[in-house]
Amino acid sequence: MAPRELGHDLRPLEQVRQVILGLLEPLGAEARPLAECYGAVLREEAVVTELIPPFDNSAMDGFAVRVTDVASASEASPVTLRVSGQIAAGEPGGLVLEPGSAQRIMTGAPLPSGAEAVIPHEVTRFNDRNVTFTRPARLGQNIRCAGGDLRPGDLVLKPGCVLRGPQLAILAALGRDPVRVTRKLRVAVVSSGNELVEVGSPCGPGQIRNSNAYSLTGLLLSAGVEPVNLGIVRDTKEEVLRVIRRAVDAGLDAIVSTGGVSAGEYDWVQVVVREHAEPGHVFKVAMRPGKPQVFGLFDGRPLFGLPGNPAASMISFEVFVRPALRRLRGEGVVLPELFGVRFPFDYPYKPGRVLLLRARVEPDEPGGYRVVRPGEQDSSFLSSLAEANAIVTLPSDRDVVRAGEIHPAFWFAGL
Ligand code: AMP
Ligand code: MG
Repeated sequence: MAPRELGHDLRPLEQVRQVILGLLEPLGAEARPLAECYGAVLREEAVVTELIPPFDNSAMDGFAVRVTDVASASEASPVTLRVSGQIAAGEPGGLVLEPGSAQRIMTGAPLPSGAEAVIPHEVTRFNDRNVTFTRPARLGQNIRCAGGDLRPGDLVLKPGCVLRGPQLAILAALGRDPVRVTRKLRVAVVSSGNELVEVGSPCGPGQIRNSNAYSLTGLLLSAGVEPVNLGIVRDTKEEVLRVIRRAVDAGLDAIVSTGGVSAGEYDWVQVVVREHAEPGHVFKVAMRPGKPQVFGLFDGRPLFGLPGNPAASMISFEVFVRPALRRLRGEGVVLPELFGVRFPFDYPYKPGRVLLLRARVEPDEPGGYRVVRPGEQDSSFLSSLAEANAIVTLPSDRDVVRAGEIHPAFWFAGL
């Protein structure tokens, strides 16, 4: 297929993202032990089949009573009842509360039949034999009813939901193990550039350390996929093609490469995508940083050719790769969720492309967030990424943000 030539036309970020997402669909699912499901994407409905909680039980440590037995209790005229027993959590239940008596009961313990309320022990005076109440009880007070939380037929988790602690707890409470989730995705990390050396090697004249492999490894882990580092690739067409073949032959689900996507003499990633991907796209995107972007399918496996500049590659990851990985993982929400951040100062910037400002944002008064440190925005600079926790988007048709304005942002690096 012929690559899409764009000349000098810039394409809107959103349009490019839709082209990429339109070529991807969720990968296969598998049954996995619940204990190994943290961060996985649910691929089935979690429908409740039993009452949660399974039995009526006490919400407090206190005394189970019948409402009528304490109806007349007041400070001036307390009511004393005999304590007929004690029920701890874990006991099988089946006990009966005789009229005119109270039973000591602990949080989570099954309610004896006949009990209509639990009065917390803090508001009573008691010893082993008797308990004195100075106020009446309300019907159902401090009782958690069977099925009060979840009932058979309730759809509590939908396919596409990411399983974190709370969702794992729900599946555990329902007795679901194993769970149907998207299989673990493995994604190649490729660093292209003649100037690159590995972090442990001496850095000679004209050389720099390969830092992108580390940012991308971290970003991929935060996206819930397994990174597979395929190392540094020299700037030749053969080496670039060879590493892509290697990734495809190894059955990796996607490739994220950095460098070699501009129109320079040594930018072979874009040439290989033009010539070998099906389909292959070489984009000039109306965003700063990250104008040159390359995307292609090799044997159906997506390759994201990100620019080499460290900040450009990380921001491109957030804008294109993370949503694409969410799609491949079958997540219900793929686009970054936006929130507003206020600028407490004027901020001038270069117009013509959307500025994806890496910045530190902090809680604002009386709510929301404000930008505190945008830092130096050069696409090759790492310094401003050290403390950045968000990416703020500024419109292409402006050249300054005025103090007090609010602009959309999204969290950075999996926060
Ligand atoms: P390129 O996109 O290949 O033109 O690279 C753009 C800039 O990013 C150059 O200054 C490269 O030296 C730098 N760069 C490329 N790859 C990496 C990498 N893996 N780690 C750090 N810097 C890189
Ligand atoms: Mg290069």
